[in-house]
Amino acid sequence: MNLPDRSRSQPVHISHIRKSFGAFVALKDFSLDIEAGEFVTFLGPSGCGKSTTLKILSGLTPQDAGEIRFGDRRIDMLPANRRNIGLVFQNYALFPHMTVVENIAFGLRMRSWSNTAKAARVDELLALVRLEGLAERRPEQLSGGQQQRVAVARALAFEPDLVLLDEPLSNLDAKLREQVRIDLRDIQRKAGQTTVFVTHDQVEALVMSDRIVLMNAGQIDQVGTPVDLYSTPATEFGARFVGANNLLKATITGIGTDPQAHVQGAGLSIWLATVSPLVTGPEIWCCVRPEHIAIRAPTETGPETGTLGKVTDKIYQGTTVLLDIEIPGVEKMRAERPTSEANRINIGQTVNVLFEQAHAVPRMP
Ligand code: ATP
Repeated sequence: MNLPDRSRSQPVHISHIRKSFGAFVALKDFSLDIEAGEFVTFLGPSGCGKSTTLKILSGLTPQDAGEIRFGDRRIDMLPANRRNIGLVFQNYALFPHMTVVENIAFGLRMRSWSNTAKAARVDELLALVRLEGLAERRPEQLSGGQQQRVAVARALAFEPDLVLLDEPLSNLDAKLREQVRIDLRDIQRKAGQTTVFVTHDQVEALVMSDRIVLMNAGQIDQVGTPVDLYSTPATEFGARFVGANNLLKATITGIGTDPQAHVQGAGLSIWLATVSPLVTGPEIWCCVRPEHIAIRAPTETGPETGTLGKVTDKIYQGTTVLLDIEIPGVEKMRAERPTSEANRINIGQTVNVLFEQAHAVPRMP
């Protein structure tokens, strides 16, 4: 297969983009550098400005201020059809009367590729998206996942500088989404085209991205790898939005290096492994992931400082069980333990709760 390698992809530079609709500021000051071939996801709740950013990148909406460059080339003055961007929408937007091959070749026809070059490129893409046997079918004769792969092949066909994927999995059922997520990620890695993906689904973002841009109210909250966002959120918003988390009010009482800080609050007295760089004062949220809450018998002693709590509910999930635990003076906490271990714990039981890992984010007074 002769697909473009990453050296042919373009880096994308977005600088100080602002956008208002009337008095409402939808994007405050959005700046981001995307590496060539990188898969970057814009993640955030409804209304945070993901689609507005995507529309500005694609040329469908003009920005009020700021610049966009593909490599050295400034593109934000160009109309949408001259930006060399491949788009994949939520509803796929395939041409219903065209076959798979005709859909994929559409952009190549518009760009006057020769018949030979067109046929070779379509063959490459059919192989990439694993649809070789279905080349002559029309969209109505394909499953949702297959239609999605045609839409991706069509967007990649003309070797765009940037591929934009706008919630492309939201019309698929849960099982298919899991599969198509991996398919899309693999296709993007092989094709190597710089890609921006928009979603409000944090699992999708964690599974697929090289980096995630977490957005909140028209601003970037944090940019990092999926591991960065999950294990070291910068803010309370990030700690609550990405993955399940327990947040406890605490105060920093000592500074270390590794572990980084000692905290006290609500019956806690523990050392934290990591602290958000945005923490500047002693008032913090101590964030503990459910899988980092260990449960021991109340009599069991260990090197860590635990706190006593009462199990109030158990939610069976197959391989793991969620355990709701009430600790005096603390909001209800949720632990996630392997089923074999949770089977030995009963509702109403008093247990010793230990935090295996905890992280601090700033707490506004
Ligand atoms: P969703 O996940 O629901 O699609 P989003 O993060 O993509 O949300 P945007 O569509 O970018 O959010 O919208 C950001 C904010 O700007 C929202 O409050 C929205 O109501 C507002 N907005 C977007 N387009 C317009 C418009 N044309 N006129 C007025 N307000 C708009």
